[in-house]
Amino acid sequence: MSDVCLPEVSDLADANRAATGSAAWLRARPAPAGTRALPSVDSDSACTDSLGRALQDLRLSVIDQCNFRCTYCMPKDVFTKDYRFLSAAERLSFDELTTLAGAFVKLGVEKIRLTGGEPLLRKDLERLIERLAGMTTRRGRPLELALTTNGSLLAAKARGLKAAGLQRVTVSLDGLDDDVFRRMNGVDFPVSRVLEGIEAAHAAGLAPLKVNTVIERGVNEHQIVPLARHFRHSGVTLRFIEFMDVGGAASWTQRNVFTSADARRMLEETFPLVAREQQQRSDTAQLYRYADGAGEVGFISSVSHPFCGDCTRARVAADGKLYLCLFATESFDLRRLVKSGCSVDDLAGEIRTVWARRGDRYSELREETRATPGNKRYPTVRMSLVGG
Ligand code: SAM
Repeated sequence: MSDVCLPEVSDLADANRAATGSAAWLRARPAPAGTRALPSVDSDSACTDSLGRALQDLRLSVIDQCNFRCTYCMPKDVFTKDYRFLSAAERLSFDELTTLAGAFVKLGVEKIRLTGGEPLLRKDLERLIERLAGMTTRRGRPLELALTTNGSLLAAKARGLKAAGLQRVTVSLDGLDDDVFRRMNGVDFPVSRVLEGIEAAHAAGLAPLKVNTVIERGVNEHQIVPLARHFRHSGVTLRFIEFMDVGGAASWTQRNVFTSADARRMLEETFPLVAREQQQRSDTAQLYRYADGAGEVGFISSVSHPFCGDCTRARVAADGKLYLCLFATESFDLRRLVKSGCSVDDLAGEIRTVWARRGDRYSELREETRATPGNKRYPTVRMSLVGG
């Protein structure tokens, strides 16, 4: 039996409904471990890498399929109908994902973000969420559980996700203009449906709510001010992300990067901003307040101001491979260990060993190495496999 909820992108009966108005609605509503001896885990000692970075966050990809074909991530000419996505048997089961999550939590992970592909395409995802939501961190706190989605299925699922124990969602949305959005998502999906999803998430209490917008120069920088206007006063934190040289972004060049500094200048011409203190070292976004008190907005500058030095994130792809960096090409096969019936303790020992060797800081090295300054002509793991 398939464990994928089939995409609903063909259901475009309401495709002509336009995106409307500002988001004032938000304001108004409230085994045997094999033959080899595995390293044992001292669960009290911190799990740090070779640059002293602690393992704190896990991005767990539950599926590599997506119902969108965003031009910069899963372009249609590459991800055709014949593209070979992982089969159900190649994906980790919910039991296996729960075992893995337990091992990461044992090592000090405090936050797990479910991602994909499009995580809401994974059938019965709520059952996995229920199991993860019951976990307690090493410090005795409830595990923070978040999800990144394109929002297309959120209107129908938000309440169930919340009931299962999900705390918050981040919705990816690259434009407010319907034509721009339909072009960028590659499947003619109407922006109104994603806005409904955001509204449903808010109504369900999935908070704080974030919206992430990738800005590609020449494609959607004119959406910066309309998006900001829409989400001001709504309680939603809108964050602009620089176009990165990752995964499917074969069209990436340095020239296509609309930097955070440019985005902020453009926004400030209409809405003056005041810088906010950075909350945590590992925060990816620089946050600003609207000077008139309309809320906050963030900028994620992974290209112009890399933040590798503070990166506390591990990533497990939908096939169970562990990646230590978004730009990695090498991975460590956790699937094999989980499938062999490895205990949570033994898995944690293996992960600790791999993490201890970690020295990745791709983005900081970008300027000095292969990406200077031309096009992306080098391999990185596909974003749809490892998750954003
Ligand atoms: N389907 C989910 C979604 O849309 O959020 C989760 C997976 S998607 C790969 C996660 C995020 O990665 C999205 O916000 C997407 O915009 C971002 N992303 C993909 N390719 C990117 C690139 N080249 N540069 C910056 N962000 C990118």
